[in-house]
Amino acid sequence: EQQKLKRLKQTRAVTLDGHEIELHANIEVPADVAKAKSVGATGVGLYRTEFLFMNRREMPDEDEQFTAYRTVAETMKGMPVTIRTLDLGADKHVNPDTVRVCTNPALGLRAIRLCLAEPHIFHIQLRAILRASHYGRIKILIPMLSSLLELRQTVTLLERAKESLRVENIPFDEAIKLGGMIEIPAAAINAEAFARELDFLSIGTNDLIQYSLAIDRTDDTVSYLYKPSHPAVLKLIEMTIKAANKLEKPVSVCGEMAGDIRFTRLLLSMGLRQFSMHPAQVLTIKRQVLQTELQAVLPLARKIMNTYEIDKIDPLLDKLNQ
Ligand code: PEP
Ligand code: MG
Repeated sequence: EQQKLKRLKQTRAVTLDGHEIELHANIEVPADVAKAKSVGATGVGLYRTEFLFMNRREMPDEDEQFTAYRTVAETMKGMPVTIRTLDLGADKHVNPDTVRVCTNPALGLRAIRLCLAEPHIFHIQLRAILRASHYGRIKILIPMLSSLLELRQTVTLLERAKESLRVENIPFDEAIKLGGMIEIPAAAINAEAFARELDFLSIGTNDLIQYSLAIDRTDDTVSYLYKPSHPAVLKLIEMTIKAANKLEKPVSVCGEMAGDIRFTRLLLSMGLRQFSMHPAQVLTIKRQVLQTELQAVLPLARKIMNTYEIDKIDPLLDKLNQ
């Protein structure tokens, strides 16, 4: 079985009716690139940079970060590498001496909020990413955006980081693309506005489920309520994909749902053409894409999107995948 899957490594991910799909890998450390390449991922769709900052006392300095980002960019040999800026806080623990912590971390000062509150930390990371962009095809991804105001503040800080490099004559990709994670319901509802101002979107279903259903993703006592197939979650995902497609901006899903074969056909039916997942899932999802005739599954997918009772959705999903 594994051998059969392995043979798909070089095969392009195309549906039976000719839709080309990009299958990218999520990585946490530069060493993960080897896994991504071994399954034929055509890019890194999510590089979770916070892992460089976790479980240590001192933050990595600009050069240490630059080296890590450059290594990933170079090892991917011209394939796109989407570097997410720091997503610290909540489930990604930090050393409490280095950064402020709060009482309700999932709703608190995490991710882009933390970076905007600690601009010196953000500046160092932005410079490191920009410097690395000279050595490969890097894109920048901002986590946990909830409003356009945060996006504008982020753009201002990014411009400041670029300017500081220009002054020092340090090369970087002047055309570097900026994208945003859609993982807060408010951002999904306003996805069109974000799509207008950004170069691409990436849907973080893990947090989107947590925030739309008010289920702490780390709390076992409510995990039975954590349902990717909840109709409200599906609607928010569809809204985001449609908004991005309408504005002709690339959109991907990089949460766990992207690597869950139960949702592949449904996401394709919503108009998704780019998935990013744990390297271990890439070939399984590719096989599912290769076995899907999009035109044929659309009516049932539409029926699922018009179903409001959660217990009716799961059997329909099973049917969609037969
Ligand atoms: C997500 O929230 O879906 C996501 C991809 O980011 P993380 O799991 O790192 O929060
Ligand atoms: Mg997230």
